[in-house]
Amino acid sequence: MAELWQLSISEASERLRRREMSSVELTRAHLDRIEQVEGNVRAYVTVTEAEAMRAAEQVDQLRREGAKLGPLAGIPIAIKDVISTKGVRTTCSSRMLEHYVPPYDATVMNRLHDAHAIMLGKTNMDEFAMGSSTENSAFFPTRNPWDLQRVPGGSSGGSAAAVAAGEAMASLGSDTGGSVRQPGALTNTVALKPTYGRVSRYGLIAFASSLDQIGPFTRSARDMALMMQAIAGYDALDSTSVNTPTPNYSEALTGDIKGLRIGVPSEYFVEGTDPGVRAVVDQAIETLKSLGAEVGECSLPHTRFGLAAYSIIAPAESSANLARYDGVKYGFSSKDLGGSLIDYMSETRAAGFGAEVKRRIMLGAYALSSGYYDAYYLKAEKVRTLIKRDFDSAFERFDALISPTSPTVAFKIGEKTSDPYAMYLNDVFTIPANLAGTCGLSMPGGFSEGLPVGVQLLGPAFGEPMLLRIADAFQQATDYHTRMATPPTLKKKGRGR
Ligand code: GLN
Repeated sequence: MAELWQLSISEASERLRRREMSSVELTRAHLDRIEQVEGNVRAYVTVTEAEAMRAAEQVDQLRREGAKLGPLAGIPIAIKDVISTKGVRTTCSSRMLEHYVPPYDATVMNRLHDAHAIMLGKTNMDEFAMGSSTENSAFFPTRNPWDLQRVPGGSSGGSAAAVAAGEAMASLGSDTGGSVRQPGALTNTVALKPTYGRVSRYGLIAFASSLDQIGPFTRSARDMALMMQAIAGYDALDSTSVNTPTPNYSEALTGDIKGLRIGVPSEYFVEGTDPGVRAVVDQAIETLKSLGAEVGECSLPHTRFGLAAYSIIAPAESSANLARYDGVKYGFSSKDLGGSLIDYMSETRAAGFGAEVKRRIMLGAYALSSGYYDAYYLKAEKVRTLIKRDFDSAFERFDALISPTSPTVAFKIGEKTSDPYAMYLNDVFTIPANLAGTCGLSMPGGFSEGLPVGVQLLGPAFGEPMLLRIADAFQQATDYHTRMATPPTLKKKGRGR
């Protein structure tokens, strides 16, 4: 029989409903699993064991009383440490916020509480979500549960690794240029970047506000539908939240994709992609064809400018967003009060931020400075419009597009840290959807030399039901998503830490 931490959300919910299992048991099983594998994987910055057990007891109690329960009742999940959690330390894996405890919950947290989900803890990430490997965490790198010498991707590497290793049934990450989809691809999890405005950003600590979206990790398309149902929807507290009805995501999983038109953008099948990755994506296309999809070629001609535009826009927005960490309002502050106010702020920021964050702030401030604004920032915004138009015309002919999620499988820890540009290249296939504000999903597509390969499905704005429908049909025809990583486990020390 499967271990409790191997269950899907739908299976576990069914058992909980039938009272064959309690949420206390399910939560305990995940906390034990965390204890077994964390010494190797290190997905979590903070494990909220006591709070999780208390919440599980409460949900069990409500169930015994016959109360009406939410759609994720008793399900243990993990949260990227960039999402504000009331009373629980939220660090962004930065020295700057190492001891910061938010006084309020992000909207997604309120929604998860309403759904009666159980939070297990906060997961590791690249500092302020800048990176593709989780090596930029100020605390420690997270390891890929499929191979501990390799990265889990990033920036949401902790959230991806937790779901891949059975340390949570699902998790939330954030995706500014690929930080949900790329780690999803590298860890064999399903990872969704929703349409900009679909999920509230209220309480998501900002990196690049016009690109950031919160998105879940799960182990199946069916579980993804449940997570999206819980977190999607209009929020008056986020001025960019879109007030359009939330569809029923589970109902979209018809299992039937006959006649759907799926486009293969030629610009996403270029040199530089691992042959092993390419082979898996080609195979996935064949599978979708065999299920009745109509596959055709298309072109998104401005794709090759995506990374360059992103490299101006994301740092520019981050330089403005991160100006608030000045040692005065909250977070880390320099002890040295000897010099001027400027000296004090400079010392605080020099000591509080890591190298990658400083690189982005400086680049962004430069691109926004007078004289350079038109040459760089404005130009990049124009390119962004061209990329969005590419998608608009592709989606006139196709219901969805398919591509690799990442050009490579998980790479070795340390392999790309000294070459920022090689690191940025991880995101060539994911960035365009952020620039266009559209949605994208990475699903387990197969393996190359024992490591997972992600297949990306791209959809138009609010096309999530279509992407979930295709992924679910693919998962009914394949079993890649059911395979879980088996990192070496440490002996159980017994209850309570
Ligand atoms: N890896 C990209 C970057 O470093 C994307 C990060 C993200 O999506 N948060 O900016």
